[in-house]
Amino acid sequence: MSTILTVNHLTKKFGYLTAVKDLSFTIEKGNVYGILGPNGSGKSTTLGIVLNVVNATQGDFAWFDGTTTTHQALKKVGAIIERPNFYPYMTALQNLKLVCKIKEVSEEKIEEKLELVGLLDRKNSKFRTYSLGMKQRLAIASALLNDPEILILDEPTNGLDPQGIHQIREIIKKIASQGTTILLASHLLDEVEKVCSHVIILRKGEKLYSGRVDGLLASHGFFELKTDNLDNLKSYLEKHASFGKIKLENGCITAILKEEMNAGELNKTLFDQGITLSHLVKRKESLEEQFLTLTKNQSN
Ligand code: ADP
Ligand code: MG
Repeated sequence: MSTILTVNHLTKKFGYLTAVKDLSFTIEKGNVYGILGPNGSGKSTTLGIVLNVVNATQGDFAWFDGTTTTHQALKKVGAIIERPNFYPYMTALQNLKLVCKIKEVSEEKIEEKLELVGLLDRKNSKFRTYSLGMKQRLAIASALLNDPEILILDEPTNGLDPQGIHQIREIIKKIASQGTTILLASHLLDEVEKVCSHVIILRKGEKLYSGRVDGLLASHGFFELKTDNLDNLKSYLEKHASFGKIKLENGCITAILKEEMNAGELNKTLFDQGITLSHLVKRKESLEEQFLTLTKNQSN
């Protein structure tokens, strides 16, 4: 697998505020990455740094194999980090022709890219007549004109209606399926879950998790347990290697699993220990719950 982008210990300070803190990650070819975090967590700042529009305070990044200059490398990057801006009185086609002149790429891909984003039949409409969703789709077509290695999108569905959101997500998936690597920033968990294969979760500029989206999903879950002698049960579980954190609250024990175990297996083990349960439920945290747990203010 070849590497598209390597980010090493990036830090960005705006005065006293640390927007990005010691952030490292790698983008491999062919995957769809989400940078996920609440508003103000440093997503746009991170994208700005790797696109050379924001200067890092510390750390560095390297595009591709690290031998090309950032200036050269960015010619192989398609990015939309602001609201799409085209000439309102020009048609979509005229606008894209102009983009081709400015970027010094041939016009031959225009129709193909308009088709990809579902705007071919509206190519002769003036930009000002476009809906917000169509404007965003035109921006995607524009960013793809030079067949970039990677497409970078900052909150691509912000402000769109549900249909517009759906169209953009489908287009992103289609682009990814054709082999283009994608890096998108989003504060929406379900967007990342639906579109991305990999995720980097940020909170206050710090990385909390990076890896596969399904890796995040693969938590082993936890048991909710009740019995007459809770202290006895609690101390037994605390010694058991399969469990991580054990919590006793309102007469109910929550035991978080470190490895797979089914309810029947636990019930039998406890029964053999002379512990009879009056309540036994196995639950899994949803990705949403995990995300909220990860991103909520923890004392650290
Ligand atoms: P996100 O894109 O995740 O919403 P940003 O990267 O835009 O977050 O912002 C991260 C933090 O940096 C925020 O607290 C924001 O207010 C601050 N910030 C971003 N840009 C600037 C700037 N140019 N000057 C001062 N503070 C900034
Ligand atoms: Mg942002």
